[in-house]
Amino acid sequence: MDEHERREHLRTARPDTQAVRAGQRRGPEGEHAEALFLTSSYVFGSAEEAASRFAGEACGNVYSRYTNPTVRNFEERIAAMEGAEQAVATASGMAAMLTACMSWLSAGDHILCSRGVFGSTTVLLNRFIARFGVEVSYVAPTDYAGWQAALRPNTRMLFLETPSNPTIEIVDIARVAAISRAAGTILVVDNCFLTPVLQRPLDLGADVVMHSATKYIDGQGRVLGGVLCGSSALIEQAVAFMRSAGPSLSPFNAWVLLKGLETLRLRMDAHSASALALARWLQEQPGVIAVNHCGLESHPQHALALQQQRGFGGVMSFEVEGGQPAAWRFIDATRLLSITANLGDAKTTIVHPSTTTHGRLSEAERAEQGIRPGLLRVAVGLEDIEDLREDLVRGLAALRG
Ligand SMILES: *Cc1c(COP(=O)(O)O)cnc(C)c1O
Repeated sequence: MDEHERREHLRTARPDTQAVRAGQRRGPEGEHAEALFLTSSYVFGSAEEAASRFAGEACGNVYSRYTNPTVRNFEERIAAMEGAEQAVATASGMAAMLTACMSWLSAGDHILCSRGVFGSTTVLLNRFIARFGVEVSYVAPTDYAGWQAALRPNTRMLFLETPSNPTIEIVDIARVAAISRAAGTILVVDNCFLTPVLQRPLDLGADVVMHSATKYIDGQGRVLGGVLCGSSALIEQAVAFMRSAGPSLSPFNAWVLLKGLETLRLRMDAHSASALALARWLQEQPGVIAVNHCGLESHPQHALALQQQRGFGGVMSFEVEGGQPAAWRFIDATRLLSITANLGDAKTTIVHPSTTTHGRLSEAERAEQGIRPGLLRVAVGLEDIEDLREDLVRGLAALRG
């Protein structure tokens, strides 16, 4: 079978197979693993060929800000996994968000965003995108009447994250997608917490999936990356911005992320299983007031999570008795967990949201979003669960000071 036939055959393969094989074009060396093309530019066979490539009449690479074979391999693989026609990779998750705004919004448009999204997303919209004449407003993620009511005649884009951070609220993607479709807006879903192996927003009616590939797609805390996945019509506009503005993904990072995709399913299943087991256990511990994890039967949107997700993910949060001082003592008593706001790593992380990731919000805003002073967020990694449990026991023992 030649390379072309092999690639055609792969189109009908199942997601786990796509994750390992989609997008690869083997070169004349017959390499088994994906090749890493560390080259900024490409040479042409003749002056005429150079002219036709530059004119876009002949396909082929010109310059790695526009296209690079390793980056294209990553784009085709993640697009297959998300069920998208096309994807465009970017230097980071925030570069993907910037590319989305610059490609699909113009002065005079309005973007409606779910409240409590990733901190830098809020800063990008409020401090920078708003300066270019785009109106920005926020809505409680699960207030569907609120989404409808907040639409304006100039609303062009809806943006949401599910599960939300750090309170793990689940947004009904199909419901917001129906509102978006009726209004003729573009619904963008940040799928960073669950990845395509646990949630496929495009199947639920979203127009675009955005990722910080820095998190679970890499999964081992090595590189930054981002991606937008959607219809070719939308992604081509993003490609045009990306080529001119240059927030392109480095080929080396694309190669690391490609290898990350191959093990994503296994890692997400392991993250999810350990997080659920620890969440169940934490619920029973004295000093713990509440545990937020969508795999718990007690979670208010557990049924929705079962319906729209293939698994529950590795992130959970819980509130301890004694407010901020006790929460800090908990963190400082751990020996294994990494004290960092990062997530989606093989190494388990712990953070106190109200004084770090959500420290810029006012007290009233935090209260509104359920981010209480005793809340801790843990992104469960891949260590032995008994070592993690023992570390959490150290934290619990420190609650009383
Ligand atoms: C980390 C993160 C981002 C930003 O991604 P970077 O790769 O750090 O730029 C966006 N959204 C969510 C949900 C994130 O966790």
